[in-house]
Amino acid sequence: MADVFLVMLYENSPGISILVVSLCFVITVAVVLSWFGFGVPVILQSSDDGMSHLQIPERRMVQVKNPFALEINSAGSSVSGGVRLNPNCLENCLLSCYWGCTVQGFQKALRDHEQKFRISTPHQFEEAVLSDFQHSTTFFIEKGNVTEIVCKLPEGSSIKDFGTLPRARYPLVALLSLAEPEDREIYSIVASVSVIHASDDKYKMTSRILYQYLLTAQGNVFDLKQLFMSADNPISALNSELVFQDDEEKKQEENEAEMAVIGTIEEESHGTGRRDCVVCQNASINRVLLPCRHTCLCDNCAERFYQCPMCRTHVSESFALSQNERQYRDMSLDDS
Ligand SMILES: [Zn+2]
Ligand SMILES: [Zn+2]
Repeated sequence: MADVFLVMLYENSPGISILVVSLCFVITVAVVLSWFGFGVPVILQSSDDGMSHLQIPERRMVQVKNPFALEINSAGSSVSGGVRLNPNCLENCLLSCYWGCTVQGFQKALRDHEQKFRISTPHQFEEAVLSDFQHSTTFFIEKGNVTEIVCKLPEGSSIKDFGTLPRARYPLVALLSLAEPEDREIYSIVASVSVIHASDDKYKMTSRILYQYLLTAQGNVFDLKQLFMSADNPISALNSELVFQDDEEKKQEENEAEMAVIGTIEEESHGTGRRDCVVCQNASINRVLLPCRHTCLCDNCAERFYQCPMCRTHVSESFALSQNERQYRDMSLDDS
């Protein structure tokens, strides 16, 4: 129909028919451009440009010094043979090991700390858990001493296991606290509590640290979370600094805010001292992606990804490892 009309028009007046076709072309182009908002269609853009429009929110963090670090030698630890612990403290510390501490008592102690009864010494912890544990030992850990401590049940103890699941008692709870009262004035983190699973005949899962909490003098309880990095460059909790969310309102809503461990000294003293971004292989890693906590991108590449390149999780927030970022500020005692 339209072609017959066009042929007739062309035969009668070629000028007008060319004008009609040109007009149709201009209208089509105008419609297409308005559809894409006068921008370049997404399919014509490079993938890099497409992702750079996304702004992943920056999580506000503060950096604090944590005087405590505790690792476990999983392979050599069990209820019968004792649990091998590697403390590494920046000050003289006390390592108190509580066997068979009740889950209920432990949760009560954390709640007490948040409410009014602050825990900064082994005695205060024992009071808060109402001495509801089966055996305890305390070791003095000298500042910087990294000797392995073997925490054992006493000879001839009747405890052989902690029963079948679900359990009412944690096999071992390790409390690290500052030995010198004056040090408690310097650090805002005054104690670290680790809940440890020790393998026994009833539950043979390898011994490991299940949870680690940091208690502050201001009555916060922080659940310590590990960052995930490539196996060539593991971050060690030793000599670590911590960053945590600086969001007072959120902190009150969810009392156990997240904390992240960042190894600093370890990185400088061993290895290449530089971890390369998994994408560009050119700049050093400086971004932690949340919620998956993969730490694999440099600042530039992180801006281009809305999905984690390691696990494909949608990135909801991110924060920088390096403390010279302007978003950071030092957290002093009078901040909180
Ligand atoms: Zn990169
Ligand atoms: Zn991830």
